[in-house]
Amino acid sequence: MAHKVTLIPGDGTGPEVAEAAKRCVEATGVKIEWEVALAGQTAVEKFGDILPESTLSSIRKNKVALKGPITTPVGTGFRSVNVAIRHALDLYACMRPARSYPGVKSYYKDIDLVIIRENSEDLYAGIEFEMGLPETKEIIGLIEKNSKKKIRPDSGISIKPISVTATRRIVKFAFEYAIKYGRKKVTAVHKANIMKFTDGLFLKTAREVALGYAEKIAFEDVIVDNMAMQLVQKPYNFDVLVLPNLYGDIISDLCAGLIGGLGIAPGANIGDSMAVFEAVHGSAPKYKGMDKVNPTAMILSAMLMLRYLGESQAADRLENAVKEVIAEGKSVTYDLKPNPKDPTAVGTAGMADAIIAKLRK
Ligand code: NAD
Repeated sequence: MAHKVTLIPGDGTGPEVAEAAKRCVEATGVKIEWEVALAGQTAVEKFGDILPESTLSSIRKNKVALKGPITTPVGTGFRSVNVAIRHALDLYACMRPARSYPGVKSYYKDIDLVIIRENSEDLYAGIEFEMGLPETKEIIGLIEKNSKKKIRPDSGISIKPISVTATRRIVKFAFEYAIKYGRKKVTAVHKANIMKFTDGLFLKTAREVALGYAEKIAFEDVIVDNMAMQLVQKPYNFDVLVLPNLYGDIISDLCAGLIGGLGIAPGANIGDSMAVFEAVHGSAPKYKGMDKVNPTAMILSAMLMLRYLGESQAADRLENAVKEVIAEGKSVTYDLKPNPKDPTAVGTAGMADAIIAKLRK
């Protein structure tokens, strides 16, 4: 039976990389019934709504979506469609593997990390108070009264909620992932030495959850600034990292840097009953319609989707095809060439064609 999947092409270069990924998935032979749904600028143009309810209900119905990057409009008050989708569908775990592929320019070899980032709270909860507004003054007054500390009147305020509930489920997710994929260690990353009631709670809860897995998976915790340094100095000491939202955002880009950049970094946002797969990179609007950008991150996101759908053989074949094309270094996009101006670089569709040719061999 065919799997039903919502396909959101996205903005900028999104439709090009989404089409490349769709074609690669189809070439694995796995049957997919795609339901195209819009979000972002294309949705504004067609429906006057940046995130139509019909798109969310398509994902709720199909339980799985493959999504191209979406441009975040500047100055409209709308934070991000991506954050809105994660919140609306309670996709609380952002999972980003960072794995080296021979042939990609990078300072490191053989990196194999998985970053599990909490998606629903922390400074990304979207609870903010603009400088100078009456409600901001009220909040400042309340905080000063209760904390006996001064806040400058010309301050903006962002709230950082971290709960036992959300921490417990993200840390459990990290351990369950580690067990499912044969990983050895989970590292909780925090700043509990400074933020005792938020990161401290995250750490205490993580330690409690870890006790339940002590016989199967090792556990440790590392302070986030130290983590940034250690990842650069000795990334091989780590395996699965679990982090609150903001640190997860920053550290996962650092890890994308370890493996050679955004062009090859895939990701997924996963909840208890549904998941949205997407590249880490954005819509790279300056390359829109130029058939230029690297489709690998989106194709590898589709590979993660195949795994989620239980199609692990097809996922392995797709990952190997990507690996071979990158290792050969011939039919790859400009960013994977030693010299980005190399005229032999192929376009987005050409690289997908080369991957499909490997799958059909
Ligand atoms: P970006 O990732 O779109 O692009 C930054 C640069 O990285 C590009 O100029 C390009 O040089 C390179 N790059 C990105 N993807 C590449 C690819 N596939 N192949 C080769 N090179 C690639 O980041 P940005 O310019 O900060 O953001 C553009 C828009 O995308 C913004 O509106 C931002 O909000 C949005 N965004 C969306 C998502 C998402 O939908 N998940 C994620 C990040 C940013």
